[in-house]
Parts: sequence; C-alpha cells; structure tokens
Amino acid sequence: MSAVGTSENPLRVAIIGSGPSGFYTVSNLLKQSDLVVEMDMFDRLPTPYGLVRAGVAPDHQKDKSVTRAYEKSAANPGFRFFGNVEYGTHIHLDDLKQHYHQVMFTTGSPFDRNLGVTGEDLAGSHSATEFVAWYNGHPDFADRQFDLSQENVVVVGIGNVAMDVARILCKTVDELKVTDIADHALEALSQSKVKNVYILGRRGPAQAAFTPPEIKEMGEFAEADVNILPGEAVIDEHSQNQMDADNDKNVLKNVETIQSYAARPNAGKPRQLHIRFLVSPTELIEEAGAVSALKLVQNDLLMDDRGQLKPVATDREEVIPTGLVFRSVGYRGQPLPDVPFNESWGTIANEGGRAVDASGQQVVGLYTAGWIKRGPSGVIGTNKTCAQETVGLMMEDLQAGRLFEPADPGADSALELIRSRQPDFVSFADWKKIDEAEVAEGARQSRPRVKMTQVTDMLDVARS
Ligand code: NAP
Repeated sequence: MSAVGTSENPLRVAIIGSGPSGFYTVSNLLKQSDLVVEMDMFDRLPTPYGLVRAGVAPDHQKDKSVTRAYEKSAANPGFRFFGNVEYGTHIHLDDLKQHYHQVMFTTGSPFDRNLGVTGEDLAGSHSATEFVAWYNGHPDFADRQFDLSQENVVVVGIGNVAMDVARILCKTVDELKVTDIADHALEALSQSKVKNVYILGRRGPAQAAFTPPEIKEMGEFAEADVNILPGEAVIDEHSQNQMDADNDKNVLKNVETIQSYAARPNAGKPRQLHIRFLVSPTELIEEAGAVSALKLVQNDLLMDDRGQLKPVATDREEVIPTGLVFRSVGYRGQPLPDVPFNESWGTIANEGGRAVDASGQQVVGLYTAGWIKRGPSGVIGTNKTCAQETVGLMMEDLQAGRLFEPADPGADSALELIRSRQPDFVSFADWKKIDEAEVAEGARQSRPRVKMTQVTDMLDVARS
C-alpha cells in the first residue's frame, strides 16, 4: 500500500464544523507541499461559515468578506461539503474511523455562560447568544421573541458581543434595513419602544473587553447618544500603573474614547446608550413571573495575589427597572460524543489541537481548532494561526503514522454512507444555489442578501 498522503492513497480528513477554523483547516492542509488530501466538511446546518453567517453583526458586512477566501478553498477538487449532516446524529466517530485518517473538530462555542445570580432564568432574561442568532437568521432561533416594548434594556458584559447587541438595539430601522439582518428581526425592531440601553461592565475602562473600532462606533448613532458617567471614566491608580507598563494600544485607545464620551454633551437624541463601569448585577427582580428590574452593586477594583485587578462589591446598590436583560459574559463549548472534553474550560481536552484523554495522552486521530480548542476569544483571523498550529501537528502525526487506519478510505464509500444516513445532505453546489437566491433577493431590496431562516426553504432551493 502506498504511503498515506499520495495520489494512490490520499490523506482523508473529516472536518466537523464549517466556520472560520474549519475553513482555515482546509486552506492550511491545501498549503502543504507534496500532500494529496481529501477533505469532507460537515455542518449540522445546510449553510456553511458558522459565526461569519450567524454571529458577525449584520452591520459589519466587511468582516464577512472572508468567505471569498473560503469559497476558493471550497473550489479545490479535494474538498466536499456536507451540510445538514450532524455529528452524533447522522454520523458517529466509529463511522468516521472507517473512512478517514484524521478527524478535526471545529464546532465553536455555541453555549453562553451564566451570571449565577437569582432570577437569571426568569422570562425576559436571555443570553446574547439567542438574540445574536435571532437577528442573524439562524434557523434554530428564528421563532424567538424578545420583549422590545420595554423602555429599558440591560446588557451585562462589556465585550464585543455586548457591543453588537447594544448597537442593534440603538440603531434605527433605516440604519438596519440596508444590512442582511433577518427580516423577522427588522420587523420586530421597527416596533421597538426601547429608549435606554445599559451596558454593564464589572471592571473599569482599562479592563473593557471591547476593541477600539467597536467603542468608537457607539458614538456615531443617528438617533442615540452615548453616556458615560465622568466618575466611572476615571482611571484608578492600579489600572494607570498597568497601562503605563503594558502600553497596550487597544487599551489606550479604548480609554481615550471612553473619556471623550464622558466629557461629551448629550444631544438629546430619542435613544440613550449608558455604558457603566464598576458595576455587577446581583439579582434580577421578579414580578408576575418575569424580570421587572435588575439590582446591581457598585464595585471597587482591587489587585489580587496574582496581580489581577478584580471587582470587589461595595455596599452601594442601584436598581434599574427593566423587563429585558441580555447576559453577554462569554461562550462555552458543547461536549461532543466520543470526544474528550475539559469541563472547566468548556473546550475539547487538547494540547495544541491534539485531543488528549484524562491522563494527558494523545487520542490518536482526533484534532481541534478554533473556539472549541482554545475557548471563545480573538477575532476571525485568530483562527487562522490556531488552525495552522493544529495542522502542523496533524502533519507530524502523518509522518509518524499516528493515524486512524480506515477499513474503507474511498471517497465514494464515504459518500454512500452519508447518503444512507442523511439523504437530504446539502453539497457546496447546493449551498451556492441558496446563496445566489439570497443575494438575488437582496439585490431587489438594495441589501447584501435576504437570509432564508427556515431549513425547509433552504432545502427546497437546494433541490430546485
Ligand atoms: P469577551 O470578550 O470575553 O467579553 C466578556 C465580557 O463579560 C467581559 O467584559 C467580562 O468581564 C464580562 N464578564 C464575564 N463574566 C462576568 C460576570 N459574571 N459578570 C459581569 N461581567 C462578566 O466575550 P464576548 O463579548 O462574548 O466575545 C467573544 C470573542 O468574540 C471576543 O474575542 C470578541 O472580541 C470576539 N468578537 C469580536 C467581534 C468583532 O471583532 N467585531 C464581534 C463579536 C465578538 P471581565 O473582563 O471582567 O472578565
């Protein structure tokens, strides 16, 4: 038998998840010299691109242009896409071992983290994940309802996802209707009665997790003012020392923008965005089974033994009346059948992208990249180097012969198996039909695309 990775015996890789880290796995594998590789990518949705489609905000179209590079990878004859095929439902690890030498998991972090405060499960309290997926037209979230008749909305957390959520709530229909926001969201937001959007950061301006372009955008709304309390924009001594020592340009720019907002006069626009620092929610107060208010406590910032600046609650409390709260305090990965999972990190247990068991030993054949490997951090491009690291280890293992030994490594037999388990799979050519239909409808409405939000509609177009 010829060596694996040659034209007589191509390296066969299954990639589970079609977001950025899945596609960067493909481009990295294609870059390997003298490697003949066949890659089958699976996604439980009929549409590819993961968070580029269902996470990146609709008013950030530029960030979505990375899909052009993914399309180029997909055009390689060694690549196939199987959408609408779910790992753990239609295909299992034992199946993959029969047809592939290596399996890469790039499934992201679909769950949200909790706040751990009383009232978190009440009606009116949601994860940012749900809202983001809803306005982006993710089929699993298309039917969600958010009470936009509320005048006050609170977003807990101060990362870029919180910024996205607050921006969508603050923008006007005119600002949103030129994007690819889901039609159901545009309709609901056009009826919005929201007047005040509060973003709550538990630490100070120098510890905010958002990036400079995102905070800058908050000062540019057509119909919303940004408010920051001057006292909360002041940098404490510890933070100042850290800023001086680190000279981190992002932190310096964030602080500059925050302080400029704190000094800015209010223009009296119909909506008000309030960005608060050094406050933590302590309770969601109930009335008639739903959230009626959020209780918060003001924090001091103290240095712990490890030199980290931590929020410490004072006895100063406030109450914000609100019936709509979004927690946006980070994501968590979902455990996958037959794949080792690190519960405390919420990631696949791995070293550099090689899956490892409880004793730290490599689990041969299993790899990971992206958020499910390293946790939910970084921008889209971060996944490129992340996938590159894992692919490097996959190549080392290929050289060392540390691979699955598939009984039936032919591409045709894998196709037969997939067809037998999920006859309704969506190929890349099928996805292109969905894509073209969405873009064509978008062109009619002067929008980048109009998203289909029901799997049945997508399958109808794919089969047309
Ligand atoms: P994130 O950047 O990790 O921010 C999470 C925020 O939640 C932090 O401010 C954190 O504060 C706060 N937090 C955590 N636990 C909390 C608690 N119990 N109570 C109050 N606050 C709490 O996460 P993310 O916003 O979900 O974003 C995930 C990744 O996607 C990030 O790397 C982000 O940059 C990226 N992303 C990028 C874009 C973009 O480029 N435009 C858009 C969306 C997302 P502490 O710092 O005090 O822990």
